[in-house]
Amino acid sequence: MPTRCDLDEDATIRLRTRAGRRHSRLNQHTEVGKVAAGGKHAARRGHDKSVRVGPTRLGKGVFARRRYPAEAVIGEIEGRIIDDPHYGSDYCMNIDDGRVLEPAAPFRYVNHSCEPNCEFDFFDLRDTGQTEPERRVFLIALREIKPGEELTIDYNWSAAAAIPCRCHAPSCRGWIVNPDELDALRARLANTLPKDTGQTA
Ligand SMILES: [Zn+2]
Repeated sequence: MPTRCDLDEDATIRLRTRAGRRHSRLNQHTEVGKVAAGGKHAARRGHDKSVRVGPTRLGKGVFARRRYPAEAVIGEIEGRIIDDPHYGSDYCMNIDDGRVLEPAAPFRYVNHSCEPNCEFDFFDLRDTGQTEPERRVFLIALREIKPGEELTIDYNWSAAAAIPCRCHAPSCRGWIVNPDELDALRARLANTLPKDTGQTA
């Protein structure tokens, strides 16, 4: 088993994506429509060529094989959708309807950065012949990405799940945590760290 960047065995692992944010913009996001209309197999063929999994300082990571403009759809995150509120794993992500997606390679290896160049977004899409829309997750470029660049997202974990971050971004928060949860994290740390740090033993 590869050791994934910034994860440890004790962490409660749930990727907190900013998914719903662009939910209502699906109709404007023609590229997602195109990727989705091509079907899952086409999407898989697409991202086989578009990214590669390679080593990083701390484990595996995902790297662009070509240039992407901002807002580009890099690929569809495929995997198993699990309808179990107690399910947890190193890679699973909430898809905001009570279920989680356990992503398959290559995108299960996307690492966290406090200054990410990508994000996961989900969309409810109806394939040809389907009556009910299906929730599907895509990796979207937040800015222009150069060939060879590592693709990263912000895990946005809750304070309860936060672990130290080693992303080395200039604005690194020091923790893999949702910025809105920093106060809750400080409260958690105040309760777990020794109160008097100035004293020598
Ligand atoms: Zn960081």
